[in-house]
Amino acid sequence: MKPITIDGTGGGGQMLRTALTLSMVTGTPFRMTHIRGARRKPGLKRQHLTCVKAACEISGGTADGAEPNSTELVFRAGTVRAGSHRFAIGTAGSTGLLLQTLLPALWLADGPSELHLTGGTHNPMAPPFEFLDRVFLPAMRLMGAEAGLELLEAGFAPVGGGSIACRIKSSKAFAAIELTERGEITAQRIRVPIRNLDADIANRILNAARLAFPCEDGAVQPLPDGPGRGVACLVEAEFGQRAEMACSFGELAVGAKKVGQRAGRLMSTFLGTGAAVGRHLADQLLLPMALAGNGRFTTMAPDDHVATNIAVIEKFLPVSFLLTERGGGVWEISCDSV
Ligand code: ATP
Repeated sequence: MKPITIDGTGGGGQMLRTALTLSMVTGTPFRMTHIRGARRKPGLKRQHLTCVKAACEISGGTADGAEPNSTELVFRAGTVRAGSHRFAIGTAGSTGLLLQTLLPALWLADGPSELHLTGGTHNPMAPPFEFLDRVFLPAMRLMGAEAGLELLEAGFAPVGGGSIACRIKSSKAFAAIELTERGEITAQRIRVPIRNLDADIANRILNAARLAFPCEDGAVQPLPDGPGRGVACLVEAEFGQRAEMACSFGELAVGAKKVGQRAGRLMSTFLGTGAAVGRHLADQLLLPMALAGNGRFTTMAPDDHVATNIAVIEKFLPVSFLLTERGGGVWEISCDSV
């Protein structure tokens, strides 16, 4: 089959990961040019290469151009094999993004699977373990896709060395999702996991987060001794069976107060809009929603990830997305079969 061509000029790693996933699911090969063209250092980095290699392995596929910094790749999937797979990113690259690349293909495979992934578990610019566990997977459960996730070892950038395990139940199909109403807040909490840093940093982060997002249930979580060091601020609001989470991460040269304020303010802003789905879950729901053939949700003003992800999805699947501004900072994103 002739590969479809995707121009990666406008986006980042997500365009590649979405193409890999949909190529595995549909069997349609693709050629991507200008990979991560919108990023300062374009081309395939270690974490993207691991996604390509992992996709080749679970689907018996082939990839031409899978080399460091390569800006062009041709990928052809074979048949996705359920089973037990282990992948190591080899850097602090996000295990969460690798997991999200493989999950839909393994959900639709003909039996249960287990993934063991090593790399980063708490990276800026990627879903941390807790987001996957508390936000992404519960949303997937609403679509009939089941997986259990375990944090075996936390890994912070730049050292990494973290690992997660995921047990995946085969689902055969995705159910349509309708998340237009947020529902009542049933719980809210702030957690500050920290490793090998002064406990005072975590306390200052927690206090600043609480000022930006008043919340009684707040706690510092000292992590067991392990590789590297780091701290995160995780602000969660639960709505019955699902939740949203705003995250920020400790950075050199960024004060503790700022780290706490960031996550607290992100959550306050999200709740202030009345949207059901946060900025990050929004771009992550598009692919499963398209596999279901239809669905809709409300979210905040869509960012570039939404537009570039939709462009890739519409190349592989007979669906069309519609973005409608509802006012008050709320947008509705819907997907229908064409
Ligand atoms: P690059 O942008 O360098 O290519 P990348 O491969 O990490 O990097 P992106 O295209 O930026 O890819 O995609 C990052 C993904 O991580 C998006 O789905 C985004 O919503 C998600 N994400 C980023 N930060 C968070 C966060 N704090 N919580 C949940 N998800 C996040």
